[in-house]
Amino acid sequence: MTNYTEHPNNITGTFEALTVGWENPEPHPITGQPATIPALLPALRDAIFGGMEKTGGSSFGSRMPIDTGAADLFQQIDEEIAEAWGQAFPNQIPTTERTEALLSAFYAVTRANPTGELITITVKTQKVANLDTLDETWWVETSKEQHTPQSLMKRWMKLILDFFEPPRRREIMHPCVECGKEWLWKHENGETKPYRVFVFEHDMHGNTIRACCLVCGASWGMQDMKELASKMIISRRTAQEKVLV
Ligand SMILES: [Zn+2]
Repeated sequence: MTNYTEHPNNITGTFEALTVGWENPEPHPITGQPATIPALLPALRDAIFGGMEKTGGSSFGSRMPIDTGAADLFQQIDEEIAEAWGQAFPNQIPTTERTEALLSAFYAVTRANPTGELITITVKTQKVANLDTLDETWWVETSKEQHTPQSLMKRWMKLILDFFEPPRRREIMHPCVECGKEWLWKHENGETKPYRVFVFEHDMHGNTIRACCLVCGASWGMQDMKELASKMIISRRTAQEKVLV
């Protein structure tokens, strides 16, 4: 079997995926189609304005973002790139604000040693507690993360790919083994519908990536599936015993 990877794995491929688009030289063994990724940063920038107003090199200016999710993600990646650039070019002031220009400069100085020096970035994560209760609280948590230049490129590529192709979900017929929560409610067309919070996530090819809880955020990778299965069996047994008592 060919050692086929769907996505670029090295710093040059990921940089290309972010800026000019990328094509796998090996066609997919099953579909025979070459795997391609469009230029991701321009695609994300376009998505902010709903794909309209592609003309001109103007900055965001006074235009109104219509997709705030895309705008937030673009801003986050833009800040991380600026932060990484600042460490690759200490004591210098960026001469341009264009995200791709800073990224190109960062790539130019790090590609010779992509897994070398560690870069620190500030990562912001949206958190929520007590969802659907009177105490519902939202906040942004800030933490520092260290990455190699190559893993940073992969991170930005993956963030944008996930934005366009969010992992698909399949419900697990069981409460979360961590927090015990089983259902949440969504409002759709004037109706209130329950949905399960304990789910498997798939990538765009149907491969299971992980199991996770949408309430407490606990997550289990493929290597933890056995452990998760035994936890589910134990909690099911406990529940049955309670019924019997
Ligand atoms: Zn949970």
